Amino acid sequence: MAVSATTSLDIQKIRDQFPVLDQEVNGKPLIYFDNAASSQTAKSVVDALVKFYEKDHANIHRGIHTLAERSTKDFEATRERVHKFINSAEADEIILTKGTTESINLVAHSWGTKFLKEGDEILISQLEHHSNIVPWQLAAERAGASIKVIPIDEHGDIIMDEFKKLLSNKTKLVAVNYISNSLGTINPVKEIIALAIENGATTLIDAAQAAPHVKIDVQALNCDFLALSSHKMYGPTGVGVLYGRRDLLEAMPPYQGGGEMIKDVSFNGTTYNDIPYKFEAGTPNIGEVIAFKYAMDFIDELGHENIQAYENELLEYANAKLELVPGFIPIGTAKKKASVISFLVKNVHPYDLGQLLDVKGIAVRTGHHCTQPLMDFLEIDGTVRASFAVYNTKEEIDTFCEALKNIAERFN
Ligand code: PLP
Repeated sequence: MAVSATTSLDIQKIRDQFPVLDQEVNGKPLIYFDNAASSQTAKSVVDALVKFYEKDHANIHRGIHTLAERSTKDFEATRERVHKFINSAEADEIILTKGTTESINLVAHSWGTKFLKEGDEILISQLEHHSNIVPWQLAAERAGASIKVIPIDEHGDIIMDEFKKLLSNKTKLVAVNYISNSLGTINPVKEIIALAIENGATTLIDAAQAAPHVKIDVQALNCDFLALSSHKMYGPTGVGVLYGRRDLLEAMPPYQGGGEMIKDVSFNGTTYNDIPYKFEAGTPNIGEVIAFKYAMDFIDELGHENIQAYENELLEYANAKLELVPGFIPIGTAKKKASVISFLVKNVHPYDLGQLLDVKGIAVRTGHHCTQPLMDFLEIDGTVRASFAVYNTKEEIDTFCEALKNIAERFN
């Protein structure tokens, strides 16, 4: 396929690192536009996974034999890599989890148990993914705290004046996403964090969608917690990160009990390991964690700035073309957006659209995208979502827009 772009990135070379893209689906070349759900895995990541299972497989931190030492070293290399990737003050502030969902649940349970009290308020936005809603509902219920929702406007932007009004001496935590998975809104998280801090609140940033697109610097952001998932960053599934500030992590009780998170266990009582191990009970996804390092290498080699510039080019190109689709209704037109386009087409149900596009080899997401409260606000059941990654091309967008136009013309 010819690739045209003004970027300095060599998109064809990038595509060559994703063999999965080179296949036909329903007799048509695959066009993968479901990257906000899960991006495809870079070959260097797959190679690292294969190497682990073929050559290095052993449990970590416990054994003294060569394979155990090798896998422990590689596992800890990923922690170091995350530390550099998000610029935490130290590697010990990096907890390796199963994903964003587990990271947020860890904070909601552990921090919530220690710090949330009756009458406290947790502020989350109308844009949140269920994984940044439900853990707080559970924590609030346990503590007798309550949840307040930061409103958004009709474009999908957080209304900052309303946020300021919601902040009070009852606000214990502000937990928002960096980029909305449903609408692509890039939230002014730095400003949100600064206001929360002024108000004495703890902050958590759900960076699941941000990590593959924007450079994250937790010290510059000045957040207390940040969560992300490897599988949205060209890495393996089953791996995520919780960044937490040392003083908070040290003050928090363990989340799960088991191997690795202890210093000493007796039937009279147990003492806990230091951070980060205190929060890493049991055998993790060792191979996947090791391979995740190569996903961060992949992103850093391309450079976040180059990735973002190219994805913006794709976004603008697609927006201009989609205007020509009869009955096209964009959902989410925020001031700053990542390469996510949510939409409806008049007279066509989103599920039907998703299926009709799949027949043409085009993978998009349909439904509520795990943001039902956002869909309620928008008074819709769901949307169709096309989300672009760095390996997507304008030629793929041409094919997608043409297919969408053909479908839309049949119904409008
Ligand atoms: N938060 C946001 C904004 C997301 O987009 C997602 C996944 O789609 C999650 C959280 C949950 O991530 P995971 O399923 O990897 O735990």
